[in-house]
Amino acid sequence: MTTDPAPTIMAHKAAFRPEMSALDEYEPILPVEVLSQRYGVPPEQIVKLDGNENPYGCSPRVRKLLAQAPVHLYPDPEHREARHLLAAYVGMGAEHIVLGNGSDELIDLVVRLTLRPGERVLDCVPTFGMYRFYTQLAGGEVVAVPRDGGYDVDVAAVKARIDGRTRILFLAAPNNPTGNPLSLEALGELLATGLLVVLDEAYYEFSGLTAVPWVAQHENLVVLRTFSKWAGLAGLRVGYGIFPTPISRQLWRIKSPYNVNAAAQWAVCESLKDAGYLQENVRRLVAERERLYRALGGISFLEPFPSAANFVYCRVHGRSAAAVHEALARRGIMVRYFDTSLLRQGLRISVGKPEHTEALLAALGAIEKEAP
Ligand SMILES: *Cc1c(COP(=O)(O)O)cnc(C)c1O
Repeated sequence: MTTDPAPTIMAHKAAFRPEMSALDEYEPILPVEVLSQRYGVPPEQIVKLDGNENPYGCSPRVRKLLAQAPVHLYPDPEHREARHLLAAYVGMGAEHIVLGNGSDELIDLVVRLTLRPGERVLDCVPTFGMYRFYTQLAGGEVVAVPRDGGYDVDVAAVKARIDGRTRILFLAAPNNPTGNPLSLEALGELLATGLLVVLDEAYYEFSGLTAVPWVAQHENLVVLRTFSKWAGLAGLRVGYGIFPTPISRQLWRIKSPYNVNAAAQWAVCESLKDAGYLQENVRRLVAERERLYRALGGISFLEPFPSAANFVYCRVHGRSAAAVHEALARRGIMVRYFDTSLLRQGLRISVGKPEHTEALLAALGAIEKEAP
């Protein structure tokens, strides 16, 4: 007896929600093993400056703890200890804090909590792709408002695009991939619109700038943070948000009970207990960021932008950024290239250890000598 699966697959396809097939594709970074195969470079020789990951890794105390952790037990669905420690870290009560499976999950939850199909989200482009992704997934409409020439949010343009269907404004500060912060003056003006403002402070520890205290005074402000970058926990997927209590209470009701796994919760607690160690690495990365920024300015075809995060964005002049990306990759150096109209001539380079900067600069110097 033979069965033909094709008709079943077709039947399912016909049943998809239209917004699912209309999704723009998100191009994620590739795992080291895949990069190694693609470019013929041994995995241990790859210099990974494409994911804004922490080259110093997580706290050694996290490693030790995870080796002994009782993984056969379900994690605390209310994240009690993590929220207790986070409350002290952020200076707001634990009732304002919700943890997510990466701050990505919190973007998803906030959108699903507030956006009705057909309603609009303002996205200050170029910026982090997940705001667009989750809005489309929820059947919402993304209104892209271009930033100005220095990548600052164009406050007047944002205000001009608000209509009766607009619900959420996403702001990454510092912005990814451009690295620039957001002024509190601009934030104040944007909060006065009454839109729900989701301020993404994924790089807070590198910028030292935060609007968390404003959450107590603004019921339309949400601040998102993550342990992926400063704490070196990208692989464990854990982020958190600071919310006005009416929002945090509703989020508790819609989140998956075990959204943050046990390893991630322990890692959060241990990271906060070892914050001094992690902050020392943050200081190293900030110093290296400044050195990298200056050195990139010395490469004839690069125009680096000042950054308050753990990466430096560069515009490429006189040659194609895609070609520079490929030429670096062939030498084992991975940086981020975005094939979108606003970013096609740019590269985002994560800050690594000093030796990673050296390898990058040597490769760029060699590329400089080649014909464009
Ligand atoms: C990296 C990043 C995140 C994602 O954080 P996760 O906690 O790893 O999901 C969110 N926002 C911005 C702007 C980022 O760059």
